[in-house]
Amino acid sequence: MKIVFLGTSAAVPTRERNTASIYIMTTNGAYLFDAGEGLQKQLQIAGLNPIKIKAVFISHMHFDHVLGLPGLLMTMALLNRKEKLTIVGTRKLFQFLKMFDKEFYMDLTFEIEFIEAHQGSVYRNKEIEVLAFPTIHSTESYAYRLFEYKLKRKFHPEKALELGIPKGPLWNKLQLGESIIVNGKRITPEMVSDSPPSPISVSITGDTAYFEQLIDFFKGTDVLIHESTFSRELTDKASEMLHSTTEQAATVALKSGAKLLVLYHFSERYKDVRLLEEEAKKIFPNTVAAKDFMCVKIEDNDINVINNIEKCE
Ligand SMILES: [Zn+2]
Ligand SMILES: [Zn+2]
Repeated sequence: MKIVFLGTSAAVPTRERNTASIYIMTTNGAYLFDAGEGLQKQLQIAGLNPIKIKAVFISHMHFDHVLGLPGLLMTMALLNRKEKLTIVGTRKLFQFLKMFDKEFYMDLTFEIEFIEAHQGSVYRNKEIEVLAFPTIHSTESYAYRLFEYKLKRKFHPEKALELGIPKGPLWNKLQLGESIIVNGKRITPEMVSDSPPSPISVSITGDTAYFEQLIDFFKGTDVLIHESTFSRELTDKASEMLHSTTEQAATVALKSGAKLLVLYHFSERYKDVRLLEEEAKKIFPNTVAAKDFMCVKIEDNDINVINNIEKCE
């Protein structure tokens, strides 16, 4: 799995940072979390194909998280997309897109399946599942947690041969977790392979104030991408504006048992975010402050942060 940061600034874009948007590539598709203004340019620079996006998850209806979406849909139509696109978000998002469709004649070439965000499972296909949890912010807002299920089990050919299963497509079925019948005998995947690897999970806060229940929602996540609008100096401002500080993000990472904390959604007042990263590291050492086009690669339980998108193959 690869996570590409397309926007890491709060509220407004800066010279170095675009507004919030994260692109996650799994084995069979791509998923977009928030769609800040300027998203399409960022996709171009990163060399990412918008057509591959299977579903879009919008945390909430603040400009810095949603303005890039209508343009993205228009581009998908220009590219003659036929595959259905799922969009998860609040009811206001649905109204916003309807308005665009009506006033701008979007003339989409594909169907949009709109799923209203709610606490629990909001999206599922063969490969991934996404859960949502309401956060505390100045408008209805959701954190998301994506699980990628690894279907391929570790296969033991000698056991398969012992049971008289010929090498070929049947092996593949078993490896993917399907049972088969050979010579009238039912063979289950457990008889010839290990149990499936546990899913990888990536959690994204969107915008939120600090609150304890969110920690439970992120329990055991591999990567926690947490908003960090302010430094600890501005803790009062963060509570007032229903955002989080570096220390709060790090506390959530520590208490939820995350493996890696990525800070993003920085106030434009921070030209250099090293200080923010240092503050968080005092509580949760495995922290990195995201920059635009940074990539996090997760492969066989290894999590690597790659600063150069071109090296994120
Ligand atoms: Zn925001
Ligand atoms: Zn917001």
